[in-house]
Amino acid sequence: MQIQPFKGRIWLSSPTMHGEEMEYMRQAYETNWMSTVGANIDAVEQITCEKLGCKYAVALSSGTAALHMAVRYAGIRLYGEPKAHHGSLKGRKVFCSDMTFDASVNPVAYEGGEAVFIDTEYDTWNMDPKALERAFELYPEVQLVVVAHLYGTPAKMDRIREICDRHDALIVEDAAESLGASYQGKQTGTLGEYGIISFNGNKIITGSSGGMFVTDEKEAADKVRKWSTQSRDNAPWYQHSELGYNYRMSNVIAGVVRGQYPHLEEHIEQKRAIYERYQEGLKDLPVRMNPCDIRQGTPNYWLSCMIIDEQAMGVQKRAENTASYTDTHGKSCPTEILEVLAELNAEGRPIWKPMHMQPMYQGNAFVKAFKEDQDVGADIFARGVCLPSDNKLAAEQQEIIIDVIHRCFE
Ligand SMILES: *Cc1c(COP(=O)(O)O)cnc(C)c1O
Repeated sequence: MQIQPFKGRIWLSSPTMHGEEMEYMRQAYETNWMSTVGANIDAVEQITCEKLGCKYAVALSSGTAALHMAVRYAGIRLYGEPKAHHGSLKGRKVFCSDMTFDASVNPVAYEGGEAVFIDTEYDTWNMDPKALERAFELYPEVQLVVVAHLYGTPAKMDRIREICDRHDALIVEDAAESLGASYQGKQTGTLGEYGIISFNGNKIITGSSGGMFVTDEKEAADKVRKWSTQSRDNAPWYQHSELGYNYRMSNVIAGVVRGQYPHLEEHIEQKRAIYERYQEGLKDLPVRMNPCDIRQGTPNYWLSCMIIDEQAMGVQKRAENTASYTDTHGKSCPTEILEVLAELNAEGRPIWKPMHMQPMYQGNAFVKAFKEDQDVGADIFARGVCLPSDNKLAAEQQEIIIDVIHRCFE
């Protein structure tokens, strides 16, 4: 295939600055509030509460740190203070989304817990409520569920909520990728007891890094605020009666987030336009886009992905760390598409490899919707691919990408 590469690299999803970020960073600098205290932090916490419609938000150093605090708080609420600084989930199982980024589930391990992975559904590419239901039959003692909204499309939170309520389980919602997406009129992150968002460089808005813990429970917000600043007691000296963490957001980072927030809707619109152009441009191929036309939710269109129809899948071999394929007439596969995108100087990526297929989680249980049913996560991983979805991707560049994908199927 003859390919003329783009002069500048086209990214999967990269930061897009607007100017206000610099002003808020400058204010932090000029007033010497170069610390984990300051006006930008207060402002981004307040803006987050307003945007999401939640009572409390605590600004932290990353989405992963926010997940750690959420999972730790849930563990202590459920099972009490851990003995001798053990994790709060020692010896406990936690149900987790399977097709997600590993930062979703690592905090369960930080707290000594054991993730049980719940298979994915084709409808939303998120946790399958039927599989969750089945997991509660297998492990009725479980009381905590960590659910992610992959690629900005909300999970079926009404079903998941109802199942969790019936089993007295708490929900930690990983809305790292889905800021601005909503379900039944509520923002993702506010549908569980505790939620998190991320401001990592590849997310819909960014602080270069950073994260936020959100909740309606004052006690939880106060605790996370305390833990994230080394658990200092109110005493004349450094005194600590609990394990502490250095997880607070910097006032400089908060300045970037503060400058980005007014552009959230604009970024969502840009991502939606990209998604719709792919949908239109690829409709004559044996592929489908990731689910965005969902019944009760509005996605934020963070990443555009496609999945190749079974009968149009060429032969692709994936080992632990390598991938190869055989060029087949009329067919293609994610490995071929990613290779061709790379030649074009555009960044694609495989679907996030499901947790139950990760070497580090080999020993963990994995629950499918029906005993003998297929492994949905493994199937989407095999046939799916994330397409370049950067805000700055121009329509003409996207036409070239769409054309090159067509040529993969010739
Ligand atoms: C990015 C991401 C995280 C982690 O957020 P960081 O801010 O990078 O720590 C967690 N879960 C999911 C699903 C993510 O995409």
